[in-house]
Amino acid sequence: MARYTDSVCKLCRRERQKLFLKGQKCYTEKCPVEVRSYPPGQHGQSRRAKVSEYGIQLREKQKIKRLYGLLETQFRNYFEKANKQKGRTGENLVKLIESRLDNVVFRLGFASSRKQARQLIRHRHVIVNSQLVDIPSYLLMPGDIIKIKDKSKQLDLVHNSLKRVKDHTYSWLSIDKASLSGTFIQLPDRADVPLNANEQLVVELYSK
Ligand code: SF4
Repeated sequence: MARYTDSVCKLCRRERQKLFLKGQKCYTEKCPVEVRSYPPGQHGQSRRAKVSEYGIQLREKQKIKRLYGLLETQFRNYFEKANKQKGRTGENLVKLIESRLDNVVFRLGFASSRKQARQLIRHRHVIVNSQLVDIPSYLLMPGDIIKIKDKSKQLDLVHNSLKRVKDHTYSWLSIDKASLSGTFIQLPDRADVPLNANEQLVVELYSK
């Protein structure tokens, strides 16, 4: 599978916002977005030409894809699935992506980034409803219980990451820090998802 191998901080600077791709560094003053708010590259600080409607839509799609660590095909597949569901396609898209196991492990605070969450899952440290699941894209259903495996409960990575998490962070998730477990209570309402992006622009882009 294709992988992005350049500095991930460049992606944040390109989108002019923090995408939280690097783990603990993202929560410190060392984050390059905190230091330099302009895009990377030779022309990063120069005045930018007017961006076309297509360009704006494309940027928004790239931002969401990068934030959740998705490749184009995966993202497109989520869009197609969201488009077939009842309701607003953009909101369906966000709900679908938010219910991925790697995203929920990150949101619960067991990992400092979605990338780190994928690593935890692939290395078989995560259990869903008493079953070991090693597929980061696994889609959770309301009521699913996510746990760190007993043998993995001493992992520094998990405990260091949990330090930044409050007990009740998201309305659609509950967390029990003591047992390193959490529940995916329901699909989130779009208004409750802290996603600084306009998914409607993605719908417009893919509807052309
Ligand atoms: Fe780098 Fe994280 Fe800051 Fe993004 S949010 S620029 S990945 S440190």
